Amino acid sequence: MNGLLTLPRVSLAVTPTPLQPAPRLSEELGVEVWLKRDDLTGLGLGGNKTRGLEYLLAEAIAQGCDCLVTGAGPQSNWAMLAALAARRCGLDPYLVFYGSPVPVTGNLLLDQMVGADVRFTGDPDRASVDVAIQTLADELRAAGRRPYVLPRGGATALGAVGYVRASLELAEQLLAAGLTPSRLWLATGSCGTQAGLVAGARWLRAPYQVVGVTVSRPAEECVARVLDLAGAVAELLDLPGADVRGDVTVLGGYLGPGYGRRSPEGEAAAQLVARTEGVFLDPVFSAKAMACLIDAARAGGLAGPVVFLVTGGAPTLFNAVKSAL
Ligand SMILES: *Cc1c(COP(=O)(O)O)cnc(C)c1O
Repeated sequence: MNGLLTLPRVSLAVTPTPLQPAPRLSEELGVEVWLKRDDLTGLGLGGNKTRGLEYLLAEAIAQGCDCLVTGAGPQSNWAMLAALAARRCGLDPYLVFYGSPVPVTGNLLLDQMVGADVRFTGDPDRASVDVAIQTLADELRAAGRRPYVLPRGGATALGAVGYVRASLELAEQLLAAGLTPSRLWLATGSCGTQAGLVAGARWLRAPYQVVGVTVSRPAEECVARVLDLAGAVAELLDLPGADVRGDVTVLGGYLGPGYGRRSPEGEAAAQLVARTEGVFLDPVFSAKAMACLIDAARAGGLAGPVVFLVTGGAPTLFNAVKSAL
């Protein structure tokens, strides 16, 4: 059996998350849609990052680390959940954000509540975080600490294992529901989630195509990242069929005014889902992916059923800053 059974994992998520029919939304779109509720993973306010953090924190503990260093933008779901996961495992969280200090709302408010050490690079360039993470880790080591360092956004092969495991969970639910979806639809950012799902689908010979909708980088860049990460996670787990070329689909065109900013299409999609199914989609990720699904359904030719992965991000629902982060 592959490494999924042997890799150390700390239990942080409440799984399986529900797989729910969305009858009113389906009727509205003319395509059968189901929702996989990874907004209900249970750590903090839920979200997809928790599945990967189960493996990452296990590695941190195995390495004897006493603190965790990572970074992103100040409204990052990743950073907040990494800080929470660190606390759950007794590690001190350190977060580095690009740009200058911004109003304390949404995730940043929660970062403060969890007592993360928060720093800003002072440089709006997202890549400034990468250097700052290393500098901070060096400082901590010099002070006798043992930092566990995770890259901006957290997309690593080990983190992607979370969604290989989730693929197995979904396969069991599909079997129980007698469902054969044509697509598994999700928002893609740093690409770790899609990579895990692609590797998982390949391994399990799943019937569905994994369709990512990019909400930050260009689609071609996402395809390359998903390919890299999916290959790496398949190798790490010793899964058959590591060559996932041809299985990677990333759609663009739904970024709106930019990463982290609300788009009119996204807001309309989130309203539709809230009003038909009573489910909230976050404005930065799931709302935009759903806007893409809605357009595809309305254009016709999208054969269902489709499983839409609700990836969480609840804190940004309350982030009143609608312009740049
Ligand atoms: C991070 C995130 C995503 C995208 O996941 P990646 O693995 O970064 O591609 C989607 N939705 C939400 C709410 C997220 O926080």
